[in-house]
Amino acid sequence: MYKVIAQQLSEPGTASRFLGDRQHCRFCGTTDRRAFGNRRNAHTFPEALGNRSVFSLDECKACNELFSLYEDALCKAVGPYLTFGGIEGKRGVRQTGRSAGANYVRHSVVGGRRHIEVVSQGDASDLARVNLATGELHLRMPIEGDMFVPLYAYKALMRIALSIMPVAELENFAGSLQCLQTLNGLPPSPSLQVGFSFSHVGNAPPALAGSLLRRISPTDFTPYMIAIFTAGNVCFQIWLRSDNQDEGLPEKAGLRIKWTSQLPKSEGGYYPVEFSDPLQLDWSGVKPERQPFAAFELRFDPHSTQGNFIPILRAPSAAIEPAEPQ
Ligand SMILES: [Zn+2]
Repeated sequence: MYKVIAQQLSEPGTASRFLGDRQHCRFCGTTDRRAFGNRRNAHTFPEALGNRSVFSLDECKACNELFSLYEDALCKAVGPYLTFGGIEGKRGVRQTGRSAGANYVRHSVVGGRRHIEVVSQGDASDLARVNLATGELHLRMPIEGDMFVPLYAYKALMRIALSIMPVAELENFAGSLQCLQTLNGLPPSPSLQVGFSFSHVGNAPPALAGSLLRRISPTDFTPYMIAIFTAGNVCFQIWLRSDNQDEGLPEKAGLRIKWTSQLPKSEGGYYPVEFSDPLQLDWSGVKPERQPFAAFELRFDPHSTQGNFIPILRAPSAAIEPAEPQ
């Protein structure tokens, strides 16, 4: 059983919030006042994922510069979701694939309406087919996408978790803090599993949330700290390995928390965003590889006019059949 011990939410149009103070960097420990940038220098959640309102005062400029490399890898890893979801980064919505390449997806706003342009070159019979049993139309959109270093993307998730962690807990995570200090520094455990889930692929709710769940009973044989981070239509969960609270646990644990976010509506109240059952990704690789999604498939029922986007994972993880989104 778990208890939520920290939670931060960023949504458009809300007042800025500033975590910590500029006396002491929680990552490298510097207390030099000149090492800190202006109040909006360090974004607690990546700016490229849409964060405009939550900032970390206790992250110095040098740490922030290094961490931006981790964030870049995380954004590349989920690039297609950012494009389909229309998530606004610093320079607008990210394009997936190069315009000169065989496949790309581009987001634009035309006359106030969102517009997704998908270009896929290849044999049309490979890209579109009809499921004769159900009458469903399947349109496959191959994604080339960006290269990313999985280890760096994993460290971006660690950094977010450590940014929102209560100060009293940081002493249990010295190894995690330490590995962030050098680009290729390795986390305390070699198993870097990410539970990845998604909600609707289009029309991402423009909100980000980070949560930390701590094991309630010290005698439970479960990970001490789980970090969950949602950005629009994607949700990540990791086991943030503690130096001294996770002894005796196996190296790997399935991360299968079914997560629902309660996002505030502008007119008051909340609406729930349900995420799919998590896919298990291994982000321990230290070499660049293609982002994890080989293709997206639009499955469209012409009778009900209901459609779903299904991500198709790249091999070797392709054997995992993703759950259908709600
Ligand atoms: Zn620092």
